[in-house]
Amino acid sequence: MSAQAKAEALAKQVMQAMAESKAAEARAVVLGEKMMKAVAQAKKEAKVAQKARTIVEYPSGRYECGQCGQSVLITTAADKLPECDNCGSNKVKGHEPKITRIEPPAPKKYKAGMYQCSGCETRAAVAVDTNNLPECDYCGNRLKPLSS
Ligand SMILES: [Zn+2]
Ligand SMILES: [Zn+2]
Repeated sequence: MSAQAKAEALAKQVMQAMAESKAAEARAVVLGEKMMKAVAQAKKEAKVAQKARTIVEYPSGRYECGQCGQSVLITTAADKLPECDNCGSNKVKGHEPKITRIEPPAPKKYKAGMYQCSGCETRAAVAVDTNNLPECDYCGNRLKPLSS
């Protein structure tokens, strides 16, 4: 094979490799968009869990109606007291409830999304919010938010 023919064959291979990488990049963009949609959906679903809330638990035991004095027995811990069997009053009392406040987890430093290696510029997809970004798979450098 002449050097010229060799050069032309290699040029063809270069073009083909470029076309393949373009196609792969386009595919990556589409997948990235899909991932962001899934991330948004996951966030919506997680919202309930993210809310601060208070859990009230009355211990089991003997309570008493504040209205008629009827004693009310609670056999398992409950989040609210029953009405009095005798007079229907809701002023049953006897024990202080245990109150537990659930705080939502602190927001993470880095949001899920597309990132880019600060060294080799390879893109990386991060699917969950995190405090520690993974390192680049290829060169081990830090990732940074994708500048678009
Ligand atoms: Zn009562
Ligand atoms: Zn890299």
